[in-house]
Amino acid sequence: MASKNKNNNKKPLSFRQSVDRMVDRALKVLDIDPGTAAAIKSCNAVLQVSFPVMIRGKVQVFRGWRALHSSHRLPAKGGIRYAAMVDQDEVEALAALMTYKCALVDVPFGGSKGGLIIEPEKYTRDELQLITRRFTLELARKGFLNPATNVPAPDMGTGQREMAWIADTYKHLFPEDINHMACVTGKPVQHGGIRGRTEATGRGVQYALQEFFRHPGIVKQAGMSGGLDGKRVIIQGLGNVGYHAAKFLSEQDGVKVIAIIERTGAVIDKNGLNVEDVFRYIVNKQSVKAFPGAEYIEDGKSVLEMPCDVLIPACLEAQITEENAPRIQAKLIAEAANGPVTFAADEILRQRKIVVLPDAYVNAGGVIVSYFEWIRNLSHIRFGRMQRRYDELRGQQYVALLEEHAGVKIPEKIRDSLLGGADEVDLVRSGLEDAMRTGFQEIYQNYMDNEDISDLRTAAFVVAVRKISRSYLDLGVY
Ligand code: GLU
Repeated sequence: MASKNKNNNKKPLSFRQSVDRMVDRALKVLDIDPGTAAAIKSCNAVLQVSFPVMIRGKVQVFRGWRALHSSHRLPAKGGIRYAAMVDQDEVEALAALMTYKCALVDVPFGGSKGGLIIEPEKYTRDELQLITRRFTLELARKGFLNPATNVPAPDMGTGQREMAWIADTYKHLFPEDINHMACVTGKPVQHGGIRGRTEATGRGVQYALQEFFRHPGIVKQAGMSGGLDGKRVIIQGLGNVGYHAAKFLSEQDGVKVIAIIERTGAVIDKNGLNVEDVFRYIVNKQSVKAFPGAEYIEDGKSVLEMPCDVLIPACLEAQITEENAPRIQAKLIAEAANGPVTFAADEILRQRKIVVLPDAYVNAGGVIVSYFEWIRNLSHIRFGRMQRRYDELRGQQYVALLEEHAGVKIPEKIRDSLLGGADEVDLVRSGLEDAMRTGFQEIYQNYMDNEDISDLRTAAFVVAVRKISRSYLDLGVY
């Protein structure tokens, strides 16, 4: 019996358990009664569906889930993942992360997540459409898809296209729902989406790192100095999040992307890779192998251990585990993916004083802009539509006043910005930047003010859990 227990203890924690253990560290710091803590951590409901679809003359059964972690705020929000390895534990862990993420950056939503076991690359576009529409029917009919209560978005293996199919299926089911467009976010712009949503998570990663480097105290603790310019970055995964983050950081902030890790291996160039070139190469060749002018390493994962300033895991969970954590040489890890560092690895990194910017904060850009899209859909009007020309007119008046009457010559760049009214994408970026900057400041403040908090992840969960528990306490349990 004793030896059986021993073995059990050795079993690695599941993703869900790993997230819970991280939250427990925050709960230790906060004075929350155990009942409320349990209510916050538990997953409210999980729907599992199996449905048949006729594929190439044969019936195939697909299995999927939608986990509703919390509904202290509605709608509950979170992506739908299409991948071969999806399971209930993963979907529940990701739903929990959505709850904390939304609370952290003041997006007034609960947390949810969906997943379907499928290898999307094995199906044609038409087949994927059939499967997605059928999955949508299951979710809608069972109360797990609705603009007021549960609103999905893209995640790994899904994108604008799938969101458009979901929105269209929902509209056909409930045409009388005037807010049908708001049943899902991440849609194409011509189908009710918002400008700037596709790049939003990657852009959020950029804003998170910019804000981190505006705080010399924590930069120093991470063993660095100065700003982002010239910092050596390794990025794992050139999917939607990794691609945009790497592109913006290298093109706009002067970082050197010294390695890109992909499924097919890694490419390394100490002088900095051109992200756009690598991305195009992957699209053409389906691999990074033989990318011109760079070193290729087949065992891509080993490149996580290369020395660098910032390591950005941007693909899957559990990439840094207790096995490789002792060998990580990055000074800062920015978790663009959900759950890339396991609980056990996190403990090791903490001891090794490697600073980790946590997922619930770093990748919150996607849901922040989803929130804007949802509001746009409910208000049935594009942001900036009514005031853009008005702002332009005001700008013209300022310029005329200064140039003609006060004799001031306004530099061209300032002139242009005064003369142009903000359009939707400007407003989206401004709102996203504000949420990311404020998010970091709140985390950092808690980290600095409380000596029981020894890392940014715990600080982030303290901020999130405090807000959620307040909403439980204000409303009571019902
Ligand atoms: N799937 C994204 C995430 O993990 C976006 C969720 C959303 O926009 O609702 O945060």
